[in-house]
This record gives sequence, C-alpha cells and structure tokens, in this order.
Amino acid sequence: MRILVLGSGAREHAIITSLRDEGEAHEIFAAPGNAGIAQDVTVVALDANDPVAVASFAQTESIGLVVIGPEAPLVAGVADALRERGIPTFGPGKAAAQLEGSKAFAKRIMQAAGVPTGRATHAATLDEVAAALDEFGAPHVVKADGLAAGKGVIVTGDRDAALEHAAEYLGTGGVLVEEFLSGPEVSLFFLSDGDTVRALSPAQDFKRLRDGDQGPNTGGMGAYSPLPWLSDDWGGEAAFVEQVTREVAEPVIRQLDAEGTPFIGLLYAGLILTERGVRVIEFNARFGDPETQVVLPRLVEPLSGLLLAAASGNLEDVAQPTFHDTAAVTVVLASEGYPAAPQVGRPITGTDAAASVDGVHLAYAATAAGPEGLVATGGRVLNVVAIGDDFGQARSRAYDALSKITLEGGQFRTDIAARVS
Ligand code: AMP
Repeated sequence: MRILVLGSGAREHAIITSLRDEGEAHEIFAAPGNAGIAQDVTVVALDANDPVAVASFAQTESIGLVVIGPEAPLVAGVADALRERGIPTFGPGKAAAQLEGSKAFAKRIMQAAGVPTGRATHAATLDEVAAALDEFGAPHVVKADGLAAGKGVIVTGDRDAALEHAAEYLGTGGVLVEEFLSGPEVSLFFLSDGDTVRALSPAQDFKRLRDGDQGPNTGGMGAYSPLPWLSDDWGGEAAFVEQVTREVAEPVIRQLDAEGTPFIGLLYAGLILTERGVRVIEFNARFGDPETQVVLPRLVEPLSGLLLAAASGNLEDVAQPTFHDTAAVTVVLASEGYPAAPQVGRPITGTDAAASVDGVHLAYAATAAGPEGLVATGGRVLNVVAIGDDFGQARSRAYDALSKITLEGGQFRTDIAARVS
C-alpha cells in the first residue's frame, strides 16, 4: 500500500516505524517529516496544513491511506479535502476535530453524551475568570479554549498566576476554568470509524519538564505502557479498558455521529482516575505524543490494517487489537530552554550507538540535516524508545541508550517509569 503520514514529530516517526515493521512492501511518504524520519522513508516538502496541496499530492501519487498525525491539519480541514476526493483517511474532519480544537465544544459533547468529567465554566472576561476561580477554589485549573499544543493549561495554587495565565489566552476564544481533579492520569487511545470503536493499550505520560513532576508543563517528556498498577484498584487492564470504552468512548462517538459530525480517526481520552471514578480531562483528536511511541511497538496486529479499516468504515469486522506482554518506556530528549525558548542549531551525536542498544530504537522530532549529521531545530528533539521484558529492563535500556547521545544543554527526565514495577 502507498501510505502518506502527515506531520513531523516523534509520534509520526513511531507510526512510520510500526508500518515499516509490518514487513509488507508499503511505500511510505512523510510530509513534511524531519531529517531523522528521512533516514527511513521518503519525505515530501508539503505544507501538511494545506488541504488542497495535501489532497492533490495524495491523488497524484495514488495514495491508498493518509494518516494525519498532528492536530493542526485536522482543524484546517485536511481530512475533509482528502475524503472529498475519495482517499481513505485516518483522522477526523474539521467539525469532529473540534473535540480537541475547542475545550468548550468537548465539554458540551461530554455533557450531551453523559460522560464523566470535571465541572467547568467558560469565561470570556477576567471578572468571569475571577468569579469561577473563587467558585471552584484552589488548586486552580485554567485552560485556553483553543489549540495550545498542550501548553495552554495551568494548574496552580496561586490565584494571581491563574489570572495572569487566563489574561494571556482570553483573546484567543476565552478560557475554561475547571474544578481540580486528583488522581493518577491515564491516556487511552481508541480507533474509530465513526461508529465502531476499538481500544488500544493504556499509557501514562509525563507532562512536567523536570523530575518529580516539577517545572512547567510541556508537550510530554516521556511515557510508558502498559500500566501494571491498574490491577490494584481497577480490575486490571482489560476491565478498565472495557469500562472506559463503555462509559466514555462509545457515548462520545455516538453523540458526534448523531450530530452529523462522525469521528473517523484516533480518539484520545486523557483521564484522571479519581477516588470517585474515572473523569475525562481532555480529548485529543489524534495519537498522543509521546504515548504513541510506547503503545504501537507493543501492538500485535499490523497497524495499517487497523487504520485502513477505521478510514474505510470497516472497524466492525476487525477484532479488538491485542498487545505483547512487554514493557515499553520512552524518554524525550529536549533542547536547552524548552519549553519557553528552545536553543536550536546544535549538533546531535551518538545516535547510532544509542540505537544499537538491545531493544532500543529512536523516534526523531525536531531535527534537520546539518553539515556533519543531525542538528536540533526545536524543543523536543528525539525520543529513545526501549522495550524490555519488564520495566526495570526497559528503563535501563532507555537510559543506557540516552547516555550515548550528546546534545549540548539537552534536557531529559531521569524518572520516567521509575515507580512502576
Ligand atoms: P490538558 O491539556 O487538558 O490535558 O491538561 C494538561 C495537564 O494539566 C493534564 O495532563 C493534567 O496533569 C493537568 N490537568 C488538566 N485538567 C486538570 C484538572 N481538572 N485537575 C487537575 N489537573 C488537571
């Protein structure tokens, strides 16, 4: 099959790696990709957010499946343009992508579908923000309503900091003030063809920059899968996944379909497991980054078959995906200054040695070709992904590999999956 993957991050590299590992003679294109991805597949200098450019390329090149990685092309209507031309596309259209693009839209859908979530108020002025902060009390949670690449959320005990954050985003469609929820976080992905859903294996990511969940929120600094601790309070992975499928994914997919905006693609449920039960903190309309890097390598069935079934409305004919009984850990290497002001242009060395560690592969993000190899071009530069028989082995492999890579000023967390056994 000829497959086009849109995006340029480590998530897209993870998707591409899974497609290549199927052993089928797929012809894979990445647009725009990055220099690390270009080591594996053909990269195309396309603007992934331009619906006409993407659809024309896909048609001219007889692409049989388009997989949309990031949120921006979804919100720009790229999936709609592709489907108009009859090209099988994994990724929701503009209307359904509002589930991620607008937190207020997501709240409304959840309310209509009866999905458990935190109480929230949409505020358009600072006075409304202040009133909502006082209503819910500390700690305060304020979220930008529109897309903010995972950086529009603040959770703080400091009322002034919450107000300041709100002021920054009020102009871009208002903010949501939300009740604080406490408990472990889980990311659970569902494939959907607009009607049927199929769950993948749960993962946990690490959003804060520094060890011990300190420092600012980021796009994500690491992740692991599966979540062995789900067996303690939640009846194990299978029971947990079945519960969230029934209480969250199926009602949301049904609601979107009933509203005439069927969701075809990846429904990402960001959950907090509170003492009072599972609560949705956010939906995303695409694979999570970095969770994808630890979920896909454990997938037993060929990824292309699942994505094509979802894109073609045939998910009902596909069995629930299964996962290897292995432990997967990914650690993000980020540039100095990330997330506020990443330093760019610095060389990255030692990647071959890192990739030769047993059970390890690399997924590249902000990289370009420099005079003597790869250079960093942004915040999250690459992911080390390690698979092991257990988390001890996966972790030591990941950090062994990371120790072989040099990026001046590079930042990474040393405690990814440290407390999992
Ligand atoms: P989001 O972009 O909505 O996933 O939020 C980013 C991070 O902020 C989440 O991963 C949580 O750690 C935290 N967060 C979001 N909403 C809440 C909430 N209502 N209560 C506590 N923490 C939250």
